[in-house]
Amino acid sequence: MKQLTQDEFNEAMTQASIRPRVKREVRFAQSTSDLSAEQWRETELLGVSDRAGNKGVLLLDSGATLYAAAYELSRGIRSSSGKAQPIICDFCRTWQTGSRSGSVTLMRPVRDSGSVTFLCCADLECSRHVRNLTSAAKTSRSQLREDMSNEERIERLRVRISAIAEQLALAPINL
Ligand SMILES: [Zn+2]
Repeated sequence: MKQLTQDEFNEAMTQASIRPRVKREVRFAQSTSDLSAEQWRETELLGVSDRAGNKGVLLLDSGATLYAAAYELSRGIRSSSGKAQPIICDFCRTWQTGSRSGSVTLMRPVRDSGSVTFLCCADLECSRHVRNLTSAAKTSRSQLREDMSNEERIERLRVRISAIAEQLALAPINL
């Protein structure tokens, strides 16, 4: 995605109808200070979180369009018997062990129209997993044995983001 300034992020939150309470709690500078210009370009999914790191605003880039949605993240998926359970991320299709698995709930922008919950990488580093830059990506590739290039995985993530944006009726952001 394009590198955003604090002002552009604020504008994106306005266009995405993010609630004032969420706007006040997210920490844009802290959430993005580690990103180089190149990493911004190679990011499709970016969590801008509150101080605790478990809720905030998720930026989503389909390659053509930027979206934003308020999210809440829960780390660690457990089976009914309480065992940590591996998952496949609904965004990037990375297989994650139980301790690295999570679920993320995205709020629909229209007030009182609810939310949708997805299984996800608990670190929300889907952009790095599809580029094979993490140990989780390497583990996943040996588990799933998909015959795909990084470029194909990136494209699959972008297509998935478009589908999720449509499912949630997210507004395209124009900066
Ligand atoms: Zn993922």
